[in-house]
Amino acid sequence: MQLLKIKLHWQILIALIFSVLFGYYFQEQVHWVSWMGDIFLRALKMIIIPLILSSIISGVTSMGSSKNLGRLGLKTISYYITTSLLAIVTGLILVNLVKPGIGVDLGFASEVDGLVEQTGSVKDIFVRMIPENIIQAMVEGNILSIIFFSILFGYFITRVKTSYKEKLTNFFDAIFEVMMKLTMFIIRFTPLGIFGIVSKEVAKNSDQLLSIAGSMGLYMLTVILALSIHAFITLPTLVKTVGKAKPFMHLKNMVSPLLTAFSTSSSSATLPLTIDAVENNSGVSNKITSFTLPLGATINMDGTALYECVAAMFIAQVYGVDLSITEQALVVITALLASIGAAGIPMAGLVMITVILSAVHLPLEGVGLILAVDRILDMYRTSVNVWSDSCGAVIIAKSEGEKLSV
Ligand code: ASP
Repeated sequence: MQLLKIKLHWQILIALIFSVLFGYYFQEQVHWVSWMGDIFLRALKMIIIPLILSSIISGVTSMGSSKNLGRLGLKTISYYITTSLLAIVTGLILVNLVKPGIGVDLGFASEVDGLVEQTGSVKDIFVRMIPENIIQAMVEGNILSIIFFSILFGYFITRVKTSYKEKLTNFFDAIFEVMMKLTMFIIRFTPLGIFGIVSKEVAKNSDQLLSIAGSMGLYMLTVILALSIHAFITLPTLVKTVGKAKPFMHLKNMVSPLLTAFSTSSSSATLPLTIDAVENNSGVSNKITSFTLPLGATINMDGTALYECVAAMFIAQVYGVDLSITEQALVVITALLASIGAAGIPMAGLVMITVILSAVHLPLEGVGLILAVDRILDMYRTSVNVWSDSCGAVIIAKSEGEKLSV
């Protein structure tokens, strides 16, 4: 098993390097391989909803009592909010120090279609969490609603007659087992999938890459630096001090899901690999992963939260708006809520920036400024999102007295 894992890391890394070269030098031939990426992504998306549903229901029922659920829930949410706030503050400090938006030309902003229709308010995020129709929520892939329903469903399984409780618990445990087996099968194709996805993206963007990097370099650098501080200093420190675990050993265990998050820009699509690595490589129990990771993939997005804050402040700087301390505090709070509301799919964070812009009365068209580089930054922030979820699982498992391999 371990041998297979080490091999997979290397396979993914080689696929990533190879796909950048292939996409760059063989732009015309990319359609020969891009279908592999399409199939891989479709297969991952195929399993997301049954995986989330069965894993949360079986996770909640395995906690046994409402006291356990309450304690774990509280720990999980506290971790999510603390790390997201730490990430946002890191971004806020850097964007104020570097000031990447001062002196940037407004001329290259691109038009964003349908922006106004997509804009959501903070209230909407919470109201939409409760599905009117759970089947429709599944059809539309509304993960937050599915999680909400699954937690309640799992909880009330524990409140019914023993004979029903046993049947339903076994039923959902069995579905979860099957979903994990299916996941393992799909994971084996990750290197091929990544080769297809990345070479297509490189071929599509290669000619603009240099010019974009020139005009938006400082902004990109600020985001990347802030994300790196959070990923390599803040989170490892928490894992070491609060979790009493070895952060860099855990990082090594997480290479496959992190590279997949980087290539797909989707925490939801990466979720099957995240569960596999946290459980099988770092040794966190299924009870903890099945509850915390699906929840984390949707609501714990440190990278996105940080990005939202830096992007909104950058837009303010470009438009020459000096935000007061109170307004900056509002940016922090709305960035946190926007990251909770953002779906774990590519570029979800981009649209959520409108929530912050409306809160501090900045022009929504500002989103057009950062559109060109969003896809690149999305790759890195998604990896940070997944990395934080996995660190949370380790810290919570340790606090519950579990013996891990990290
Ligand atoms: N792509 C990110 C994710 O899936 C969300 C975002 O756009 O920030 O985690």
